[in-house]
Amino acid sequence: MRALITGGAGFIGSHLAEALLDAGHGVEVIDNLSTGSIENIEHLKGRDGFQYTIDSITNEPLLAEQIDRCDVAFHLAAAVGVKLIVEAPVHTIETNVHGTEVVLTLANKKKKLVVVASTSEVYGKSTEIPFKEDADLRLGATWKHRWAYACSKAIDEFLALAYWKEKKLPVIVVRLFNTVGPRQTGQYGMVVPNFVRQALAGHPITVFGDGSQSRSFTYVGDVVDALMQLIAEPKAVGEVFNIGNGEEISILALAEQIKAMTGSPSDIVTIPYDEAYEAGFEDMPRRVPDITKLQTLTGYEPKVQLSEILTRVIDHFQKR
Ligand code: UDP
Repeated sequence: MRALITGGAGFIGSHLAEALLDAGHGVEVIDNLSTGSIENIEHLKGRDGFQYTIDSITNEPLLAEQIDRCDVAFHLAAAVGVKLIVEAPVHTIETNVHGTEVVLTLANKKKKLVVVASTSEVYGKSTEIPFKEDADLRLGATWKHRWAYACSKAIDEFLALAYWKEKKLPVIVVRLFNTVGPRQTGQYGMVVPNFVRQALAGHPITVFGDGSQSRSFTYVGDVVDALMQLIAEPKAVGEVFNIGNGEEISILALAEQIKAMTGSPSDIVTIPYDEAYEAGFEDMPRRVPDITKLQTLTGYEPKVQLSEILTRVIDHFQKR
């Protein structure tokens, strides 16, 4: 099998590329390096069956050729990171909506399977924990830019499912829950790499809000396993799946755990959301996945739990 990964030089994409190569598949990557980095795929260059192109997915003639050469497209290219999204809302909406439209249009010509990466962010402020795929989505007002990301990803989901319904293009939609692991950068706001960097540097560990908000972190290797299991499962087509790990932790407890694990002298400080992001910023109080649907179909079980994830991320930063 040959797979195309849009956003393949990104954090998740580069791990997926490696796993597919390890499993003996061919891999083609397209990435414009907006948030990805060539460093992420440096170790894959020269491997049999690996090809990469630095370009935008809106270069349609190029993407069309790549899709033609592949059996499946993992569409991971997107504007990601709450910080980036709040600071560049136009870029976020245009990249996420138009990019997906291009991928689906081109894949449809030869009916190539497309896996569309969506996000747990689409559940918005819902308090119906754990989040189940068929739950209602609860987004905030349109002038709160955070929700533009959720909305742009929800449109991607609608569009992918519409292609399946109307044109029989095989699609699988996955909602990823706070994926973390080595190679994730803290540059775009993600909490785990930020806390680890701050702790190792002895800088204040910056908890936004009061730290009572919680997240369930998923190891990138578990996400990659789930993606590979799903494409092998015909019943996954036309469906939406949460990919996550049910282990929940508050952000304050996360800061304390990282401080303890690194033996850091850093203070843990709280910063109001208005200062950290923008006035009126709304956070999700809790975010926990219901992964029954994925488990029932594929037997998926998250293998790497939070303390081991943190060990691996700390180790990664220490080696740099
Ligand atoms: N967060 C934090 N300090 C940081 C970065 C993030 O307290 O330096 C908080 C953020 O406000 C959110 C949680 O950590 O409540 C997870 O943030 P992240 O951006 O990693 O992902 P999100 O779940 O918001 O998409």
